[in-house]
Amino acid sequence: MAEGPVVRLISDEIREALKGELIQDVATRSEQASRSVGLKSVVGARVDKVDHMGKNIMIDLSNGYSFRIHLMMFGRCEVYQRGEKHRGSAERIRLSLKTTNHELVVSSAPVVELLGREEVAHHPVLSTLGPDAMKQPFDSALFLTKIRKPENLSRSIGEILLDQRVVSGVGNIYKSEILFLARINPETSVSSLSVSQLKSLGQLTPRVLQNAYSKMKNGQRLRFNVYGRSGKTCIRCGNTISSYRQMPSNRITYFCPNCQGRSFST
Ligand SMILES: [Zn+2]
Repeated sequence: MAEGPVVRLISDEIREALKGELIQDVATRSEQASRSVGLKSVVGARVDKVDHMGKNIMIDLSNGYSFRIHLMMFGRCEVYQRGEKHRGSAERIRLSLKTTNHELVVSSAPVVELLGREEVAHHPVLSTLGPDAMKQPFDSALFLTKIRKPENLSRSIGEILLDQRVVSGVGNIYKSEILFLARINPETSVSSLSVSQLKSLGQLTPRVLQNAYSKMKNGQRLRFNVYGRSGKTCIRCGNTISSYRQMPSNRITYFCPNCQGRSFST
């Protein structure tokens, strides 16, 4: 799953190549993208803006429409020079945008939509996104309000951090990393956390994601404290890192039973 830092890197790459260029050809296998407006209407439009909203990549065009792309687990975006040979399989291509000098190829992405401005404003996913962990300044007050909603109080903090309506951009890797740094067990319910613990999560979350983005942008290798390190030694206490599948999302969760307390699920 592409999380906030990777999605931002991808949107950076698309922006650097496509911004200001005119679309000369478009092809899609996505019904969502060709459904409401004639897809060919984007030909001749200029790429005005490329940004991300949580894990969604948004490409705004001068004709008032925007592409929304969500890569989920296996989606890929690749930017080529016009005429350059594609590296991936042609069968997996969901969207090809040919601009003056470049071609954007989106493969295997389950979500490729073409939306009008009004549709963006009232979109069932985009309009409900929580504060974006990759944007500065991070709206930590809104994060606190959303996480403390009555329907969230009995939910585990490990699940809540994956809920894009509470905070957008966090996925399974950084969920585990954030909770390790905060010394909070992933199974702890929101109602069991103090306001100061929730506030510290509101500070740690954007810091962890933005730090990962900066490292990747500079070509540095990412080193995780717990993610992918089950059975290895905790860098903080020397104990053994554990992992289990957290419900109901069924996502593998890594934690240190000594630093964060034993999981109630194991
Ligand atoms: Zn530890």
